[in-house]
Amino acid sequence: MKNVLVVGFGLAGLCLCRELEKNGIPFVCIDEGRQSTPSKVSSGLINPITGRRFQLAWNYSQLFKVFEPFYRDLEERCGSHFFNEIEIIHPFTSMEVQNNFAISALDPLHEDYLSVNDKIHSWPITEEFGIIKNGFRLDLRRMIEAYSKILKNSKILRIEKFDYEQLHIEEKSFKYQNREFTEIVFCEGPGIASNPFFKNIPLVPAKGEVLIIQVEGLDEAMILKKDLYFMRISPNTYWVGSNYQWDYEDSKPTAAKQEEFYQRITSVLPGYKIKVLEHWAAIRPSSHDRKPYIGRHKIHVNMMIINGLGTKGCSLSPYLAQEAARLILQNDYIVDRDINLERGVEFAKKRAQKI
Ligand SMILES: Cc1cc2nc3c(=O)[nH]c(=O)nc-3n(C[C@H](O)[C@H](O)[C@H](O)COP(=O)(O)OP(=O)(O)OC[C@H]3O[C@@H](n4cnc5c(N)ncnc54)[C@H](O)[C@@H]3O)c2cc1C
Repeated sequence: MKNVLVVGFGLAGLCLCRELEKNGIPFVCIDEGRQSTPSKVSSGLINPITGRRFQLAWNYSQLFKVFEPFYRDLEERCGSHFFNEIEIIHPFTSMEVQNNFAISALDPLHEDYLSVNDKIHSWPITEEFGIIKNGFRLDLRRMIEAYSKILKNSKILRIEKFDYEQLHIEEKSFKYQNREFTEIVFCEGPGIASNPFFKNIPLVPAKGEVLIIQVEGLDEAMILKKDLYFMRISPNTYWVGSNYQWDYEDSKPTAAKQEEFYQRITSVLPGYKIKVLEHWAAIRPSSHDRKPYIGRHKIHVNMMIINGLGTKGCSLSPYLAQEAARLILQNDYIVDRDINLERGVEFAKKRAQKI
């Protein structure tokens, strides 16, 4: 009989818990309850179209088939609403952007996702614009709160730091605080850097900062992508971000970034009265090739990891949870090479040989 210990209840750990629950596999989850995690800071956007050339995101059709029913089912399980369809307004700030958008919109692969100038909105923009359709927003804070309440009530989720020293590795199982588990899955996001079993996986973490602002007299549900993303989270209140910083001292918000964002916001929304309500920052657990890592430890094969969710955690996570459940249920299951931990291990070895 399987019995799994999940470490981390961010997006990756939460989706794994739900997948285990759906498969009837008993589990316990431990999370230290950090506040500034990428999952709690994230905008939760699932944008089907990506990059300067407006291409369909990696493996999107496959991921969509998994995440859409997964989040809808989770909403039902939690009796809460946190998964919404959205559209993104993309102003053509240069001829190049406009051309790239127009070329991409002609591709039959993109017909469900791109259209030009066919909506009325109240953003103060003068440029022509394109619209990215059929995207989603996952309200991660609400989802984490709703599902954690259920798991805490049934004593499945415990809020404490995982202590690696207390983990006893037996021949075919693990003992942690006098309980026995057949598998352990680490879903620690950037916290993996302190994990003695997986600390060498080649993450390329990127810090991002976010402002939550109130804008008097502007209440627009469509998302604006102009310089920054502007996403309404409640009436007149917007999540605005973000940036990518690979070189940073710590994961805390900085006064310099708040000032910079404020200037950028006022140039997109000139004349509006803007109040900064919150300022958040977190580290994205990005991988060396922008794809996630999932796999087993080389020596302790029933010890696994889900990490490297990077900038696309919301679309990836349900698929990764499904793959992890397969790994747990089938000893000989092989994860797709694109997301397999093996490639990260190979990359880390090659990098070490160069040093
Ligand atoms: C500013 C910003 C904007 C973003 N926007 C988007 C977006 O729009 N769309 C999108 O798809 N993605 C976005 N992302 C990325 C996305 O948020 C991440 O990919 C995802 O949240 C990572 O989830 P995770 O579970 O791997 O990590 P985390 O969120 O870090 O979760 C790990 C959990 O493990 C716990 N933990 C760690 N170590 C231990 C330990 N030793 N003991 C106990 N608990 C532990 C932590 O408390 C935490 O709760 C954004 C990220 C940032 C920073």
